Amino acid sequence: MIFRNEDLDRSRCKPEFVSAMFDDLKWFGFDWQEGPDCGGQFGHYNQSERMSFYCAAFDQLRATGLIYPCTCSRKDIAASSHAPHAEEDDEPIYAGTCRENRESETVNRKFSWRFRVPDGEIVSFTDNNLGPQSFVAGKNFGDFVIWRHDDVPAYQLACVVDDDAMQISEVVRGADLLVSTARQILLYRALGLRVPRFFHCPLMTDDAGIRLAKRHDSLSLRKLRERGETPEMLRSNW
Ligand SMILES: [Zn+2]
Repeated sequence: MIFRNEDLDRSRCKPEFVSAMFDDLKWFGFDWQEGPDCGGQFGHYNQSERMSFYCAAFDQLRATGLIYPCTCSRKDIAASSHAPHAEEDDEPIYAGTCRENRESETVNRKFSWRFRVPDGEIVSFTDNNLGPQSFVAGKNFGDFVIWRHDDVPAYQLACVVDDDAMQISEVVRGADLLVSTARQILLYRALGLRVPRFFHCPLMTDDAGIRLAKRHDSLSLRKLRERGETPEMLRSNW
């Protein structure tokens, strides 16, 4: 098991959160063989220290013409999206407004970089938990951001680059990322990388069936711990 600290969002990532995360996960019983605290042969394990990997992948994508600069604001995207986004996926389907943009047209404007998806192509994979999955590019998901306007790699790119570089064989994560797996498969392919196996789990929900998230001020491991619950008590509820 590998601990990778996804700390690219500098505005939200603080050292005290990282140490609390180590502390809570260790308390719960997680144990990893590679990570920022113990090292390993595929380090660094903080994404903020891995920019050279992401830049190399970005250059490769730019050379192939598979990405383009997008100057749309969040508001533009909400107004132009031609389909409401699915409940299990946070990203609206991008209408392709900037597809023909050239980099020279972005002077003095903030822009992100989007990956041009092959419209109409079915991206299929077999999930080790949920079975056969398929998503249609351009319909179930649109052109997605691989480099953010604040000049950091987007989750999709950083995750693919690291999973390959760290030789990840199996990714276990929440079912809210099923659609992202289709996006990431396109990136693996464009970069000529090996696709890992995937195992998506149902999301944990609260008593009202709402998925746990910081923005909903959900009960954290830390709060449960402060309340006197033990890892054994928490595990016995599942
Ligand atoms: Zn755009």
